[in-house]
Amino acid sequence: SRKQADRWVNSTCGYCSVGCGMQLGVKDGHVVSVRGNRAHPVNAGKLCPKGLAEHYTIEAEGRARFPLLRKNGQLERVNWDDAIGTMVEQFRAVQCKYGPESLGIISTGQLVTEEFYALGKLVQLGFGTRNYDGNTTLCMSTAVAGYKRSFGSDGPPGAYEDLEHADVILLIGANVAENHPILCTRLEANQSKTLIVVDPRVTKTAMMADIYLPVKPRSDLALINGLLRIVIDEDLYDKSFVASHTSGLEDLRESLTPYTLDYAAQITGLEPELIRKTALLYANAKAAFIGWTMGVNHSTKGTETVNAINNLALITGNIGRKGASPFSITGQCNAMGTRETGFTSGIPGYRKFESEMDRREIARLWNISAERIPTQRGLAYPDIIEGAVAGKIRALWILGTNPLVSFPNIDVLKHALGNLDFLVVQDGFHPTPTTELADLVLPAAIWGEKEGTYTNSERRVSKVNAAVAPPAEARSDFDIFLAVAEHLGCREELFPDWREPRDAFDEWRRVSAGRLCDYSGMTYELLDQSCGVQWPYPIGEKSRATASRRLYSNGQFETDDGRARLLSTRWEPFPEQPNSEFPLILNTGRTVEHWHTRTKTGAISILQRMSPRAWLEMNPKDAQQLNLQAHDRVEVISARGRVSKIELRITEIVAPGQVFLPFHFAETNANQITQSAFDPISREPNYKQCAVRVERS
Ligand code: SF4
Repeated sequence: SRKQADRWVNSTCGYCSVGCGMQLGVKDGHVVSVRGNRAHPVNAGKLCPKGLAEHYTIEAEGRARFPLLRKNGQLERVNWDDAIGTMVEQFRAVQCKYGPESLGIISTGQLVTEEFYALGKLVQLGFGTRNYDGNTTLCMSTAVAGYKRSFGSDGPPGAYEDLEHADVILLIGANVAENHPILCTRLEANQSKTLIVVDPRVTKTAMMADIYLPVKPRSDLALINGLLRIVIDEDLYDKSFVASHTSGLEDLRESLTPYTLDYAAQITGLEPELIRKTALLYANAKAAFIGWTMGVNHSTKGTETVNAINNLALITGNIGRKGASPFSITGQCNAMGTRETGFTSGIPGYRKFESEMDRREIARLWNISAERIPTQRGLAYPDIIEGAVAGKIRALWILGTNPLVSFPNIDVLKHALGNLDFLVVQDGFHPTPTTELADLVLPAAIWGEKEGTYTNSERRVSKVNAAVAPPAEARSDFDIFLAVAEHLGCREELFPDWREPRDAFDEWRRVSAGRLCDYSGMTYELLDQSCGVQWPYPIGEKSRATASRRLYSNGQFETDDGRARLLSTRWEPFPEQPNSEFPLILNTGRTVEHWHTRTKTGAISILQRMSPRAWLEMNPKDAQQLNLQAHDRVEVISARGRVSKIELRITEIVAPGQVFLPFHFAETNANQITQSAFDPISREPNYKQCAVRVERS
């Protein structure tokens, strides 16, 4: 049968940041199945429903197959040379007329690391615009900003293995059971842990908890500050670690004055005893792990919340040890690759725009003048969109992301895209809501069709391999970038002798040498043999390639004085409070069957059958008050718009006064009602709370 593969190709899952190893079964030039790779250190052969159905993405309906250029209002087929020639000509014309920074670029956490590395050079040095960011700003720029402020550098310090060694695991705003399912198998392997889950919604992860803390929406920062105050007041902190490896204790202590147990209980809605019990459990643990995801990151106070989490780990010495870590579980399969190699919020290798030494070093490595390296980052994703609204960004290149579904308060984005002189969308699928608006569509290869590496949440670099060729005329993003560089006339300067992703990886290894994210000891051959290696892995590293590695084990941080910073933070209510017109608080999130805007999973029939449409969760008390019944079709309305004909689920999973809507579905797009509110430090959107009302459709 067609399902009996002739050969198996090792690769890594292209959905979430767990980074499961898998094998693609190939028969007669088709990928006919996938299976988990038992030798892979992350998942030992297991896969979740999305991973198990991933091979269907390759031959799914709606793959982009040919370059398409808009002529007289219609997208028409053109050859690659004309497509890229037109793109370069249009971008250059806009830059000539309005200045180099009138061009914006928005990429994605779906590219392989080699592509990020190439794209950063192409954008910043080839096109000469700093206005480049990724859709990763919509999911984990907050964790990046929080790590940089506390530790002097980005980089989740721990390893997945810590889930098996911690005696206390505190998960905040992290529904791993739906969003990172294979991590639950690591959690279950630890039979002696106490699992504490903080979430306003009784998620599947909350159902696994020993202690569940049903906090009020966006009260997490008050909770953590309350925990910190108990730990310090009751003298439960690690004085030796704090004295030797941190700074800022006295300012932190002072800033915690308002966070009495009663105050924390009042803000969070939790019983005071439950808060105190949590503080004592965490502080007295031999090894405590704190994990978080979008519940923390998607907030106007996200970065400060990450800093408060880091404070808690630092004052109890829960960092750099087996089982002990403040751990941001990232979103996309290669969100980490963009953090390390991306040329967006920093210079590749966690170098800083502001540091002359860093600029000189990278210029030397690239054999260019240091004056060409920007001294400041450009606009972040939401500010690129605001720039387009204001007419400052006039041309945009969007790669591997579908903002017409994923960007908050979608009308602002529509306005921005409508203002552009030229929009290029490069994607593996067409039509999508975003490609339909493009002036030029560039068809890209997807997972299974190209080679490179992904880095997962625990900083483990795994190989991605091509099992089949891309459809029709689609090309890998890597090949597209080299072709664009050729047209721009900068290929030999920026990518000397590059022919394949391995060339980019080898240059990146040299560029990362000596940095915190040191890849220099890794080779494609080592990654193929070992299935995955955590950085730092410098040349000459003696430990076993697959061994778990932790950052800051020596107590030395990446700050100027080598000490981690204990930072003061302040809780504030979320920006749009419920009121008489919009009395309910909307929370948005995900479901295990789907990936982001469903460009891929929406085309896979088994996943569609399991989760065919959006739903709204509402507490029975609110449903009764509104005279609504289960399965009614309802409208959710905010000050910005409405989403109609959503099936109602009446459930105590959500508390009275709150409703929940998954954001995957373009037809019932949650981002018609979410708001334009962003973390002032990370620029990540506050997707999680806005005021709405619900009516029968
Ligand atoms: Fe893929 Fe994530 Fe599922 Fe693993 S847990 S199979 S990486 S989607």
